[in-house]
Amino acid sequence: MQLLLMGPPGAGKGTQAAELVKKFSIPQISTGDMFRAAVKEGTELGKKAEACMKTGALVPDEVTIGIVRERLAKDDCKGGFILDGFPRTVAQAEALTKILDELGMKLTRVLNIHVPAEELIERAVGRRICKKCGATYHVKFNPPKSAEACDNCGGELFQRADDNEATMKNRLGVYEDSTRPLIDYYKKAGVYTEIDGRQPIAKVTEELVRVLSAAQD
Ligand code: ADP
Ligand code: ADP
Ligand code: ZN
Repeated sequence: MQLLLMGPPGAGKGTQAAELVKKFSIPQISTGDMFRAAVKEGTELGKKAEACMKTGALVPDEVTIGIVRERLAKDDCKGGFILDGFPRTVAQAEALTKILDELGMKLTRVLNIHVPAEELIERAVGRRICKKCGATYHVKFNPPKSAEACDNCGGELFQRADDNEATMKNRLGVYEDSTRPLIDYYKKAGVYTEIDGRQPIAKVTEELVRVLSAAQD
């Protein structure tokens, strides 16, 4: 299954991708995670991405498309994958179509997790992530058993540098201007499904799985 999880920042893409990874045993490809790892390692890519991420702007298309092209060519993507946070512009979507074409693949489904803007800032500001295993929590909506440590691995929890109100406002603006047009792109391609992301996490997963079971028939 070749899946694409779409949705505004904080909609629950990463949270749901983690569930789908377990369910379908296919890798998650998150450009945000890849950029954060590069920033941490201080690589050339990290230097290019850091300034954009800090303000909530998009990393340039040619940089982003390049890393996804490389990632999708790896062996573990042959049995399918879950793209999370890519594409975010029409140019990225067109490039993706071409990359998949070259690999002899196409998207099985594009799942857009819909959450109204007013709920997204609270979701992002309350987000906490495990330093060790990457598990995602929310201080109010999905709290860890202990405020300090990850339920899975005991790792320390941190807050992303861009999960503050000011940067989130920019990210939501960027979503409206650059990413929302993708909805039409994928509707026209006939692979688009919208999911109500305001439901509890487990309900959203249930609905995604239901849509995907139908898509496989
Ligand atoms: P994205 O990858 O789309 O930016 P995340 O999956 O990281 O979003 O979720 C953003 C925040 O919202 C996290 O703190 C997460 O725990 C929380 N969250 C995710 N799904 C839900 C949901 N259905 N209801 C309430 N909070 C959620
Ligand atoms: P969220 O879904 O919560 O907005 P991500 O982890 O997907 O967070 O992205 C964090 C940041 O990484 C973005 O604000 C942007 O600067 C950069 N980024 C991630 N994916 C892309 C992409 N496909 N194109 C351009 N920039 C990206
Ligand atoms: Zn952990």
